[in-house]
Amino acid sequence: MSPSKSVIMVTGGSGLVGKAIDWVVENDSKYGKREGEEWVFLTSKDGNLIDPAQTKAIFEKYRPTHVIHLAAKVGGLFGNMAANLDYFRDNLLINDNVLHNAKEFGVKKVVSCLSTCIFPDKTSYPIDETMVHQGPPHDSNYGYSHSKRMVDVMNRAYNQQYGCNFTSVIPTNVFGPHDNFHLVNSHVIPGLIHKCYLAQQNNTPFIMAGTGRPLRQFIYSRDLARLFIWTLREYQEITPLILSVPEEEEVSIKQVGDSIVKAMGYTGDYRFDTTKADGQYKKTASNKKLMSLNPDFQFTPFDVALSETVEWFKENVDTIRK
Ligand code: NAP
Ligand code: GDP
Repeated sequence: MSPSKSVIMVTGGSGLVGKAIDWVVENDSKYGKREGEEWVFLTSKDGNLIDPAQTKAIFEKYRPTHVIHLAAKVGGLFGNMAANLDYFRDNLLINDNVLHNAKEFGVKKVVSCLSTCIFPDKTSYPIDETMVHQGPPHDSNYGYSHSKRMVDVMNRAYNQQYGCNFTSVIPTNVFGPHDNFHLVNSHVIPGLIHKCYLAQQNNTPFIMAGTGRPLRQFIYSRDLARLFIWTLREYQEITPLILSVPEEEEVSIKQVGDSIVKAMGYTGDYRFDTTKADGQYKKTASNKKLMSLNPDFQFTPFDVALSETVEWFKENVDTIRK
């Protein structure tokens, strides 16, 4: 980034990833705020990004020089299965409005957020950056996945046609403070933390969905935030970059349950409801490209990050988003 004043606008600033970026900007000596930077964190109260006029008004108001684009309709397996069309349309519209205005207002760089669930369902492992468009995504969340894939198509086209510097990153499953801890429409870690907490409070069984066998790579939201800021400052390509922990740190959903039980100190009955869907078995991603560009990056160990998240949940249980 240039040493002159930058206005870095973060869409989706009130979400899991946006709050983590805010935390890193304020607290991290290496990746935090630099002189000349002004950071703006948007929420849906600043305007609905599905709406073209409201999106334009936001760009007119803040005149960003850089954009980290996080805002999206986001949900776990069960939310996606119930509403593929909504996930497709809302995200397509949000992304189109943000990128169009970024081009119109001469934004110098945009980093948008994709997800490893957008990769082809039938693929070889580990998945890498070249595979985004090589076959249909998993059926459970094809709406969300296709809308996210189109960001990469738009980034390429904006660059080709107008020379825009719009890129994207592909995080694996994310968790941390400020997550959506809803009991049904959430991702596995926040959903299970909430369920385990209630089981402990009410002396009822802790029940996890599916078989516990699927495998996932989880990245702590504050690590992802550091990498987002590094990408904005250092990554030079238009093609997406996978932001993931190493392949060896992939864990089963059963291991996630065990870690939550341990972090929560839960001692009651704990089992699986195998009538519930497992979703994709795995989506193991390679972080080789990331580590070749940022070889010194240190990830927070999973159990440390999970304990911090459980502690945050317990301290904020009365005010978590419903
Ligand atoms: P989140 O916690 O659900 O937050 C979503 C954010 O988007 C909130 O700030 C929300 O604002 C905003 N938003 C949603 N719809 C909007 C609209 N129509 N207009 C304006 N703002 C809107 O999501 P997250 O987990 O932080 O996800 C951030 C990004 O990471 C997303 O692009 C997601 O696809 C991607 N990602 C997430 C994961 C994961 O495991 N969570 C994994 C891979 C990729 P309000 O708070 O005001 O509603
Ligand atoms: P995904 O990685 O996109 O599939 O997203 P999730 O975070 O929803 O992870 C889903 C995996 O966790 C699936 O194998 C689910 O069967 C399993 N799982 C177990 N319990 C839960 C739960 O309470 N909520 C969610 N979302 N998934 C659960």
